[in-house]
Amino acid sequence: MHALILKMKPGKPEKRKIGLAAGAIRRGGLVVFPTETVYGIGANALDGNACRKIYAAKGRPSDNPLIVHVSDIGMAEGIADIPSRYRKAIRKIWPAPITFILKAKKALPKVVTSGLDTVAVRMPEDRIALSLIKESGVPIAAPSANISKKPSSTSGRHAIDSFKDSVDVIIDAGRSKYGMESTILDLRSFTLLRPGAFTVEEIEKAFGKEPKVPEEAYGTREARKAISPGMKYRHYSPDTPLFLFKGNPVALAKILSGWKGRFAFIGSRETAAALTGTSKKNIILGRRGTQGQSRGTCSQA
Ligand code: AMP
Ligand code: MG
Repeated sequence: MHALILKMKPGKPEKRKIGLAAGAIRRGGLVVFPTETVYGIGANALDGNACRKIYAAKGRPSDNPLIVHVSDIGMAEGIADIPSRYRKAIRKIWPAPITFILKAKKALPKVVTSGLDTVAVRMPEDRIALSLIKESGVPIAAPSANISKKPSSTSGRHAIDSFKDSVDVIIDAGRSKYGMESTILDLRSFTLLRPGAFTVEEIEKAFGKEPKVPEEAYGTREARKAISPGMKYRHYSPDTPLFLFKGNPVALAKILSGWKGRFAFIGSRETAAALTGTSKKNIILGRRGTQGQSRGTCSQA
């Protein structure tokens, strides 16, 4: 299969192209599309056979459930029960980079939820994603568009490299706004399952209460048990090796001067200065001695 590639400007859905992509969804095909978090690989969430193709294309284990994307609250209520005490807050928050775990309605194919009685639901704020869901007329089940265990695609280019031969349509709208997955909040126990683009402070503000944050959600130690089904798997294994270097910048410069091939350096301005002439790309995080203080920006040389 050769995917039809549809280019669009970020956040600017084009009616004719969205119509083509929506047609593929309605016919049970796979469509890779941008969202504000990362790219998604989507299928009609009400069509079990179409959703099974997502697992095959990604090489995803079948016990790792999918997030279902909706374009309005009514669509969410077609597949899940929204507790009435949270309806107002959800209306205010959505569309946003946050996914809620809700009780699933029976009509939902088991392949979407991996047989759980809950379903993950999100309304993305990206205008291309929203118009694709609206035009399709069905909720779209879509995990991140990456081969299982690889980093999520944060640009159309990444998604094309991975899926040009295994999906029907790819919408390429450049870089993702956040480049980070959606936050997952279990609304039954009000527990954060996965940190993401929507902050804990924003959750507190919208719901008027703090979510429970289990230590496993921080990812600072190996989870003894998965707090969310997909989190028991290893994530994010980039192809490029990453080395952590501690010590004197001069020693590092010496090691790198003998390095064959291309590399990028991430670190302080002072260390980057000591490497002049060797590194191809410096990503400067700040000055030495300012660690721990948020600088808010990161400059790229
Ligand atoms: P992805 O879209 O690839 O980031 O993956 C979706 C993730 O959402 C899964 O790996 C799970 O961690 C989480 N998820 C999906 N459905 C559920 C559910 N019913 N209960 C808890 N977590 C879920
Ligand atoms: Mg993923």
